[in-house]
Amino acid sequence: MREVRVALLEADVALPVVKSFIKKAKAKAVGTEVLKSINPGQMVIKVVHDQLVETLGSESQELNLIAVPPVVYMMVGLQGSGKTTSTAKIAKYLTEKQNKKVMMASLDVRRPAAQEQLRVLGEQTGITTLPIVEGQQPVEIAKRALQSARLQGFDVVMLDTAGRLHVDEQLMVEMQAVHSESAPTETLLVVDSLTGQDAVNVAQQFKERVDVTGIVMTRIDGDGRGGAALSMREITGCPIKLLGTGEKLDELEVFHPDRIANRILG
Ligand code: GDP
Repeated sequence: MREVRVALLEADVALPVVKSFIKKAKAKAVGTEVLKSINPGQMVIKVVHDQLVETLGSESQELNLIAVPPVVYMMVGLQGSGKTTSTAKIAKYLTEKQNKKVMMASLDVRRPAAQEQLRVLGEQTGITTLPIVEGQQPVEIAKRALQSARLQGFDVVMLDTAGRLHVDEQLMVEMQAVHSESAPTETLLVVDSLTGQDAVNVAQQFKERVDVTGIVMTRIDGDGRGGAALSMREITGCPIKLLGTGEKLDELEVFHPDRIANRILG
């Protein structure tokens, strides 16, 4: 258990999560019968692995597409977390793997190049983006996106909302207004896994203000060993649905708890 504790801490799992995890794993391991084919050490690893998978969420993490079309996905998160990239990645995934007709719309009227960035990503992937109308506010853009998608028979509309460098009141109010206007089926929070505990704090703050239905963890290709995913799930209780594994638009993975468990155990 001492080794497991070190492995978890090295993988950047938050200390309170490590403590409660060790407690649970210990309770499970003690008294467990050792399978004939393996030794007690391997048995402990198996118990720890299974406990990791359970904590990370063993239920289905699939994106919910069951709603009257157009199904709305609202993307939220801080600036720089990988929100716009993830919007395009998910749109591409839904188009290519799920055969859906997807429209993307940028609601970020604050960062000058944001709407243009999504338009360019749309061009690269061949996915429709809502035409930019200068001077429109986020709620108006959301309304226009939904209307346009309805008229043109789109299956999914992805709303890429504005981010900020830090969580602030204005951001939260704007996000809530867009949420009540568009009634999204999925509200996906994008967090940068490399920011570790900060990402968990950010998620908590977003969750308090809007019904986050899933988390997208980006930069899982970086140095972190996936411990942030464990803290994220344990502390926020939100399912992790997707992982961003690189800058390219096909570097998106459906979340598999067992893969992350193996990565954490090293
Ligand atoms: P936004 O401000 O939240 O919309 O962030 P962007 O989507 O513009 O992403 C910020 C930077 O992170 C860009 O350079 C992206 O290419 C990069 N990025 C996004 N997702 C990933 C990822 O999963 N892995 C890596 N390595 N880079 C990513």
